[in-house]
Formats: sequence, C-alpha cells, structure tokens
Amino acid sequence: MPHAERAKYDYDLFVIGTGPGGEGAAMQVAKGGWRVGVAERYRQIGGGCTHWGTIPSKALRYAVTSTMKALSNPVMRELGFTVSPTMEQLRRGTQAIIGRQVTMRQSFYDRNNVPIHRGQARFLDEHTVSIDNGEPITAAHFVISTGSRPYRPSDVDFTHRRIFDSDTILDMEDKPTTITVYGAGVVGTEYASMFRNLGIKVNLVNTREKLLEFLDDEIIDALSYHLRDQGVIIRHNETMDRIEGRDDGVVLHLKSGKVLKSDVFLWANGRQGNTDDLGLQHLPIEADRRGQIQVDEQFQTCLPHIYAVGDVIGIPSLASAAYTQGRAAGMHMLGHTSGNLRLNDIPAGIYTSPEISSVGSTERELTEQCVPYEVGHSQFRSLARAQITGETVGMLKLLFHRETKRLLGVHCFGANASEIVHIGQAIMNQPDEHNTVEYFIETTFNYPTMAEAYRVAALNGINRLF
Ligand SMILES: Cc1cc2nc3c(=O)[nH]c(=O)nc-3n(C[C@H](O)[C@H](O)[C@H](O)COP(=O)(O)OP(=O)(O)OC[C@H]3O[C@@H](n4cnc5c(N)ncnc54)[C@H](O)[C@@H]3O)c2cc1C
Repeated sequence: MPHAERAKYDYDLFVIGTGPGGEGAAMQVAKGGWRVGVAERYRQIGGGCTHWGTIPSKALRYAVTSTMKALSNPVMRELGFTVSPTMEQLRRGTQAIIGRQVTMRQSFYDRNNVPIHRGQARFLDEHTVSIDNGEPITAAHFVISTGSRPYRPSDVDFTHRRIFDSDTILDMEDKPTTITVYGAGVVGTEYASMFRNLGIKVNLVNTREKLLEFLDDEIIDALSYHLRDQGVIIRHNETMDRIEGRDDGVVLHLKSGKVLKSDVFLWANGRQGNTDDLGLQHLPIEADRRGQIQVDEQFQTCLPHIYAVGDVIGIPSLASAAYTQGRAAGMHMLGHTSGNLRLNDIPAGIYTSPEISSVGSTERELTEQCVPYEVGHSQFRSLARAQITGETVGMLKLLFHRETKRLLGVHCFGANASEIVHIGQAIMNQPDEHNTVEYFIETTFNYPTMAEAYRVAALNGINRLF
C-alpha cells in the first residue's frame, strides 16, 4: 500500500469480530507487515465458535460420550455404578477448554501487535468506525467477520424457561426426560444425537424430506437408521404451526395436525447474520433478510476495500471455512494469490453418533453430471482396529472415475470419521496423475489402523471394474 495512503488512516486493516474468520484475516495481514486493529463486543475474544458454537458443543459431546461409555462398561456395571451425571457435571470441563482457547488466541493478537478494541463496532462512513459510539477509528481496509446467531421467529417465546436455541441450550440447568428438537440441520441433528446418548427421549422434527440433504444418500440412510435405532423419533416434512410453553412442558403444534409434548424444546431452524447494528445504513452494502452480506470470489463486498467472511456471508457456515476465508481475504488485500487455499474444497464434519464426514462429490451429483464412476466400500466391522476398540459401526465409501481412477468423493461415518476423511482429501488434491484410488492399494498402512479402510475400500471398488 502506498505510504501516503497509509498515513491517512489509523490502521491499514480493521477487522470486526474475533471468531475464526476475523482471526484468520487479522493474523494473515499482520504477518504481512500491515497495521491491524480488531473490534470485539463480547468480553472475551474467540467468537461464537469459542463461546456458543463449535468448542462448547464439541466439549460437551466429548463429556457425554466418554461418561456414558465409561458407565456402560460391564466392569463398572458389575461394581454397581448406575449414576446419572447432571448437566452441571457434564459442562464442568467446557469452561476450562474455553479458557485455554481464549488464552492461546489472545497470545496470537499480542504477539502480532494487533490491539483489540472492546465494544460494538459501527460504520460511520466507508473508512470510519466507532466503538460503542466513542472516538472514530479509520482504516484503509475492513473485514466484516461478525458471525451469526440463531434465527428467532417472533412467535416463539424464547424467554420461556423450557424453550431454548443453540446459544442458550448450553446453560440448561436440569437434564430433561424428553426434548423436541425443531430443525434437523447440522446443529439440530448433532444436539438430538448428543441428548439421546444421555438417555433423553428425543423428537427430531425435520422441515425437509431427508436429514442433511447435502450428504451422500447412503450416508443419510445410515445416519437415519442409527439415530432411529438409538431411539430418536424422526419426523420429516413437518412445519411448526405454533409452540405452547406450559409450566410442565412445551407443546409443539405441527401444521400436519400432530402435537408433540416434551419437557424442553430446542429451536434449531436457521441462523441470522450479525449485521443489524453494524451501521450498514451509512454504506452502500446491504444485508439480505437473513442478515447476510453478498461478496464476490475474493470476499469483497460492493465496496472493494470492505471484505466479509465467515457466517455473515452464509454457507458453509463452518469455523473451518471461516478461518480459510479470512486468510484468503487477507492474502487478496496484500496482493497475494489465494489459489492455494482450495476454497472450494471444504469438508463436512458432523459430530453425531455415528460421526460423519465427507469431501468431494456425492453419488447423486456424479449421476446428475453423467460421470462414469465406481464405488468402493469398507465396513468398519471388518477392520482389526475397530474390532479391538469395539467401534465397529461405520463405513468408508470411495467414489472414483472408472476410467481414470481419479478419486471423486470420500464419504465416511463411524468413530473418527472427521479425521479419517482427510487422508482421502489429501489424495484428491494431488495433480491428476497422482490422484488415483490405486494409491491406497499400493501403500502399506500401519496395522491395525482405521486408515486401512482406504485399502479395503479401494480394493472393493477396483474389483468391480471390468
Ligand atoms: C452449536 C454449534 C456447533 C457448531 N459446530 C461446528 C463444528 O463442529 N465445526 C465447525 O467448523 N463449525 C461449527 N459451527 C459453526 C461455527 O461455530 C461458525 O461457523 C463460526 O463460529 C463462524 O465464525 P465467524 O468468525 O464467522 O463468526 P463467530 O465465530 O460467530 O465470531 C463473530 C464475532 O464477532 C463479534 N461481533 C459481532 N458483531 C460485532 C460488532 N458489531 N462489533 C464487534 N464485535 C462484533 C461477536 O461477538 C463474535 O465474537 C457450529 C455452530 C454452532 C452454533
């Protein structure tokens, strides 16, 4: 950036929000030698990711699965352990993990000399913001990374003590006997699965025809089967008519005429971008009805010096993607190419039981595109490692081009699926001549490992060719 341009502003870049999107951008640009400042309205840095989303939900999930696994151990049963952990006990570890995350992330800002301005940032004009209506701060560039929050329809009473959304459910005091989860997207399905693992009776109400429609059909079928097998009652194609909060429970009236009563109710149907109090009325940038901002491929808004990344621009609405997008925006403003960040190669990781992960095309997409593909499967139950750990539920499925053998999609469910998928992702990203399913047949895997599933699935698929 020219010296005269820099001299005009307090900062070269000002970032609004310290979630993964904001952090990715701030660190990338600070390391490029620019003067960077950030704003955060919450009392701690880290974003919704650290305080209300990814980290607390995954920490609670770990506490639930590890506790329930220990309690179901036959030795524990023989010793007479039949305790039922309280929500407070299960949550206890979460605050410690959040604290460690905040300390570590704060050190990134400190080390890179990025000051954090505490308070609500609002645009005053195209190059100026104020923090909590204080002194104006000017910058040559901005990144809006203000994240999202649960969408709250006006006819649902979120002040009722039995009605929650994904931000408030983590503070639920008592463990209910029954819960209704409305909305079967990633957040709703993950919570439904977690509560069922705790022994709670769960109704999962899906407004669509299938669970998580963006996944491969075979994986969707497996997820539906296993959730039902565990006792989750799934109702597809249902729409809320009204919700009645009572003293002794919550009654969900569905447009189909069905009525569901449960101790508590979790609203998990949609999210809203945090743009309503950002001073956008002083800019030509407009947010849509879901509070989301439109950007181009470089994450630039209609004002090229103002970028937006993360949940505030909509799907995929993942912490993993937000961080990469923040870095890509930072690289673009520094004048570097971000082509090596593979922005279109974002894996899905869904922390249900069984866990799910996938990357690349689904069978449905390949069929629609008339790509001649073949499928290779590996069932976890036939792997020595899974037999040893007892985690035999699961499958790895590889989709590959039947002529070139190019790997086109990796779909996995079962223990550690979200780790396993990255082996396939690494091969899929090789240049064409090295992206081949034959890699897995020609490679020696540690034994016993879950990674062996790749060799088994590749052989299974290759053996189908003629
Ligand atoms: C229950 C749940 C589970 C999830 N699990 C996963 C998962 O397992 N894996 C995954 O990849 N993703 C997961 N996500 C999604 C992930 O949390 C988000 O995609 C991610 O946090 C988005 O990052 P961000 O930087 O865009 O915004 P955020 O992390 O939301 O950060 C935005 C920050 O901006 C601040 N802010 C907003 N407006 C202003 C303003 N005007 N001035 C100053 N500060 C402001 C906010 O206080 C906040 O700190 C989950 C989400 C939820 C709700």
